[in-house]
Amino acid sequence: MTVLRRRRRALAVVAIIAVPALLTGCDVITRGHVEAISVRKTGSTLTVQAHNETVNPPRYQDTDSLLYVADADAIGRVPADPAYAFLGPAGSRVWVLPQVERPNLPWVGWSTEGIPSGFLVNNRIRLRLLRVDGPGPVAVYTTSALGVPTVLFNSADGLPDARNVNIGVHQHANWAFRTPGLYHLRMEVTATYTAGGSFTRQFGLWFQATEDDR
Ligand SMILES: [Zn+2]
Repeated sequence: MTVLRRRRRALAVVAIIAVPALLTGCDVITRGHVEAISVRKTGSTLTVQAHNETVNPPRYQDTDSLLYVADADAIGRVPADPAYAFLGPAGSRVWVLPQVERPNLPWVGWSTEGIPSGFLVNNRIRLRLLRVDGPGPVAVYTTSALGVPTVLFNSADGLPDARNVNIGVHQHANWAFRTPGLYHLRMEVTATYTAGGSFTRQFGLWFQATEDDR
């Protein structure tokens, strides 16, 4: 384990945090707003990066240069509602980085707002979760105002999982982990240009679920 010391920034509180040596050099995100997957038009192509808004000024950076930490503040219990059975047995522990911003946790979303209309066939991209390397399954889901979940990606019932994402979307979701530890998500964006040709890009996301309180 390596101890990183980073300065407190405008919106990010990144104190002294132990991360696996593998991730030395990653920006450790313990709170604040990040578009983990920002897909935008640059020139005649698409670009997939993270848009890190925990720093001032915000910056684009490689998706796998950030580590999103779900600490003790993220620990909850799987509801008894059968609609949440995809998270595991009712009452069991689950770490959730929430869809709605909370002050002590990273707020992790994705954006296609930087893609103009008419640039892509059907004005949309396809987003896939290809693989999860970690100590347990990962589920990504949204929750309606009435508390009804919609599962977008869930490694517990097999991968890959795929969703279409329209242009002009800014989406946040719940990122759920059943077991503490380090997770790497291998994802992919594909799209077809209206001008001809296609786009495929694989990229990674890092998460850590921990019982520590950061
Ligand atoms: Zn966002």
